Amino acid sequence: MLDEKVLLYLGSLEYKQDQTAILEMEKFAKQTGVPIMEKMGFDFVRQILKLRKPKMILEIGSAIGYSAIRMALEAPNSMIYTIEKDIERYNIAVNNIKNFKLENQITIINADALNKNQIIEDVNQFDLIFIDAAKGKNKEFFELYEEKLAPNGIIITDNVLFKGIVASPENATKRIKPMINKIREYNEWLKNNPNYDTAIYPIGDGVALSIRKG
Ligand code: SAH
Ligand code: MG
Repeated sequence: MLDEKVLLYLGSLEYKQDQTAILEMEKFAKQTGVPIMEKMGFDFVRQILKLRKPKMILEIGSAIGYSAIRMALEAPNSMIYTIEKDIERYNIAVNNIKNFKLENQITIINADALNKNQIIEDVNQFDLIFIDAAKGKNKEFFELYEEKLAPNGIIITDNVLFKGIVASPENATKRIKPMINKIREYNEWLKNNPNYDTAIYPIGDGVALSIRKG
């Protein structure tokens, strides 16, 4: 998405102190094709966590727990709720969360996030909602959960540029074309949503930051 040289340069600055267990999750994800958040995308999320200090975080799409765990480590005073519908990934995530001893900070729910869930219903408000599940369903997730967003809350959506293909849909294969079109519709809807200020950043796989207007 960014100039290749710029990306290489930024990658070379990566500090090399990541915990081994995090590197292992990254390796596992790569080997098994689990689409975890890209490093630079997470750099951005981390800064948001430090600036905003959200207490209550909702994540749609846990996969193996990678982003939830990283958020928990960067925002130790937060409570994180995360929803994953795939039972295999859910089980792996539960294990990873245990490995990091984060069971008290992360509540993981095995469910389809398109359905209302009692555990989430029982939470009053979230300060940050992170949408990172089925890319064609971003708007559904957004509309379903925004009623749970704090008045000054923020919503982050991952993969809104999907490997850059969102910007050149003519390059989309037949298989992914519907999803690419859905993301394009979502981005346009989001940018024009009068209740939020949204910026889309071309980092990681494209990250949208929507701040609810006061
Ligand atoms: N946030 C993770 C990556 C999530 S990948 C990270 O960065 O580490 C997207 C995940 O969303 C997949 O595991 C997929 O099974 C899950 N998913 C897709 N649709 C869903 C739905 N309707 N409800 C819950 N999870 C869903
Ligand atoms: Mg993602």
